[in-house]
Amino acid sequence: MRTNWAGNLTFGAERVHRPATVEELRTAVGAARRVKAVGSGHSFSDIADTDGVLVEVDALPPDIDIDTAAGTVRVAAGVRYAELAARLHDHGLALPNLASLPHISVGGSVATGTHGSGNGNGGLGTSVRALDLVTADGDLLTLNRETDADRFDGAVVSLGALGVVTHLTLDLVPDFEVRQDVFTGLELGAAAAHFDEITGAAYSVSLFTDWRGPRFNQVWLKQRAEAAAVDLPWAAPADRKLHPVPGVDPLHCTEQGGLPGPWHERLPHFKPGFTPSSGEELQSEYLLPRTNAVAALHALDEVRDTIAPVLQICEVRTVAADRLWLSPAYGRDTVALHFTWIKDPAAVAPVLRLIESQLAPYEARPHWGKLFSTAPDRVRALYPRMDDFLKLAADTDPSGKFRNAFLRRELYA
Ligand SMILES: Cc1cc2nc3c(=O)[nH]c(=O)nc-3n(C[C@H](O)[C@H](O)[C@H](O)COP(=O)(O)OP(=O)(O)OC[C@H]3O[C@@H](n4cnc5c(N)ncnc54)[C@H](O)[C@@H]3O)c2cc1C
Repeated sequence: MRTNWAGNLTFGAERVHRPATVEELRTAVGAARRVKAVGSGHSFSDIADTDGVLVEVDALPPDIDIDTAAGTVRVAAGVRYAELAARLHDHGLALPNLASLPHISVGGSVATGTHGSGNGNGGLGTSVRALDLVTADGDLLTLNRETDADRFDGAVVSLGALGVVTHLTLDLVPDFEVRQDVFTGLELGAAAAHFDEITGAAYSVSLFTDWRGPRFNQVWLKQRAEAAAVDLPWAAPADRKLHPVPGVDPLHCTEQGGLPGPWHERLPHFKPGFTPSSGEELQSEYLLPRTNAVAALHALDEVRDTIAPVLQICEVRTVAADRLWLSPAYGRDTVALHFTWIKDPAAVAPVLRLIESQLAPYEARPHWGKLFSTAPDRVRALYPRMDDFLKLAADTDPSGKFRNAFLRRELYA
């Protein structure tokens, strides 16, 4: 049976199909009663599940087509960031940002609003310039940022509801180097007093806490190598390499200690050649206006005694506002509060409800690919363009072929 990466979900598909060509994919989609694409299967929610045909897109040719003059790459949706990043680096090019691990597919990551960190960095979907998708009747549709203005903004973070994306064209930037410095022991009071200063102290900043006390155990600063070295007066420089989860061997973490290296070997927390863990975890994440960050952290601190026993680690990151309709960073500079839980869904569920109630005043949009229990009407109300998205989905998928239990529950119920 096909499961997601974490193994907390067994797909309910009547059939798994792995097309080797776009033509084969078009025929399969056209003929299916219900169908849903799956990328690298790293989502924890049932967002990629279907009771029809589950289409694995990773056997389509990778088609990594770099246009150095235009500063773009066209890439098949099933390609993982690790492979893409290495190719771009070989050509002296880069993506502006990456998520915490590079093992995830480009198409699947973009579809759920996946992000890295940095006050000035948008989510991964903000690099998308065009996408090609197979719609419900098997037709090919290309949407381009320049020529399809409004529709395009609705189609990037699609939750797989509009069709199966075959290729994405991404904007690139010149290759750059990054140094990663880790600090320890940042008290919550100092973090709250200097929050914007800390998250703005480097190109990409992550704060980690196990909520066993009112403090961040670690702060990871990823700074472009050409910028001045960063100091963090409220915390101490780490005296050795560290894994974000206390006590775990940092072998698989990207280089720390201020040693400059290529962007794709520093921006993710984990190296591409390793599996960061065996999937012994669950994840949730809530994305709030950055102006609510300090109040939200205090609200979590109030219940840290309940959070800590089921938590492996909590990570706080920032994301720049974007205009992609279903992006959790739509229209607002964002703080992202991420939780890596122990792999015990029954123990985690009541803690999720507690966190959601603590964060309720702060407009918390859950990450689409992670676990949450916020009421669907509450989530929908947090997306001003939700109705427009549903109209767009009705255009590309009039019969609801791509609509799975997740979409019926979260968007249509
Ligand atoms: C260890 C770990 C670390 C993570 N770190 C981060 C992080 O740093 N930041 C962050 O924001 N998230 C993070 N995530 C979440 C992850 O990025 C998302 O779940 C993302 O969707 C994973 O991509 P995927 O290819 O596995 O998607 P899948 O889980 O396979 O699919 C997700 C959605 O995308 C759709 N989809 C996939 N491929 C296509 C396609 N070709 N066409 C149309 N729709 C498609 C699916 O139908 C589904 O709706 C992490 C997850 C794990 C397991």
